[in-house]
Amino acid sequence: MKNKFNLESLVRENVKGLRPYSSARDEYVSDGTQMIFLDANENPFNNGVNRYPDPQQRSLKMVLAEQKGVDVSNILLGNGSDEVLDLIFRGFCEPKKDNIITMPPTYGMYKVLADINDIENREVLLTNDFQLDVERILTQVDDYCKIIFICSPNNPTGNSFDEGAILELLNEFTGLVVIDEAYIDFSSKVTWLKRLDEFPNLVITQTLSKAYGLAGIRLGLCFASRGIIAILNKIKPPYNVNELTQQRAMQQVLNTEVLNSEVTEILKQKREVLKILDEIAFIKKVYPSEANFVLVKVDNANKRYDQLVEKGIVVRNRTTQPLCQNTLRFTIGTKEENDKLINALKEIA
Ligand SMILES: *Cc1c(COP(=O)(O)O)cnc(C)c1O
Repeated sequence: MKNKFNLESLVRENVKGLRPYSSARDEYVSDGTQMIFLDANENPFNNGVNRYPDPQQRSLKMVLAEQKGVDVSNILLGNGSDEVLDLIFRGFCEPKKDNIITMPPTYGMYKVLADINDIENREVLLTNDFQLDVERILTQVDDYCKIIFICSPNNPTGNSFDEGAILELLNEFTGLVVIDEAYIDFSSKVTWLKRLDEFPNLVITQTLSKAYGLAGIRLGLCFASRGIIAILNKIKPPYNVNELTQQRAMQQVLNTEVLNSEVTEILKQKREVLKILDEIAFIKKVYPSEANFVLVKVDNANKRYDQLVEKGIVVRNRTTQPLCQNTLRFTIGTKEENDKLINALKEIA
């Protein structure tokens, strides 16, 4: 590999010297014998959640490691992907000095987090067919460029990016390449997780908020080399994943049947919705989707959005996003919800 990746040189200066905060629950790992814990000033009366949660979420990570085919040391969990992404900024980007590259139209949180962390966000638009413009992305790279964020399948466009383009960025860019796979479970493309060992600069994020049906518990997954994960571990809040979330996530992750059947049903529903969208006259274009939503171009997005709200249906108006003029994004719901969407579209047509 020609990539001159050097993890040490990417880490934010003040983070280099940090050691992970050692919480009471970190210090002693029970070996299975009954111990009396008088170390964390907790209330001793058992109600299921009176103890601090495991700061390293060991049981949950063991199950995830097995399912995803990685080592526990390659996983970091957070309070949603949003926290995971924020930790990546805070671990590697020096405020007012470093920069990142994003490719609009894409997920809005990369820019929000860049702004919050006072990091310059260099934007390189996708091509007209919503693919990566690798050449232009690479011209934006300088010595202070720490991260390129790739969302694939991409939100809000719904497509996955060309594998060759992503490969080129992984090979050419000496900073971190973060691939956000929030929608990977709906996609026909394989996850980049299989190639984690090949690329020292690869960071993959996933979430339980979409296919797994757990947006309410907030659990984000981050996969990377052991070295990158160790850096993120140094700066994460000790108890960032609460006990209820760990328990509920475990239950869902072990129940792969629910995941598979719900994803299958959502994809079936998507096919049904797609059939009908083509027949609505004011829908000018339906973009190919590898996710659980569909982006469509309409005659007048603001007008159609308002009309749908009047019929009790809230979709996402993306018309202000670059390359997305007059587009609406429909999440695929239950059959009943989708039927109502379709009826409403027919009525306003
Ligand atoms: C929905 C979504 C997420 C999920 O974020 P969480 O904080 O885990 O709920 C992440 N990335 C993209 C691109 C998304 O659309």
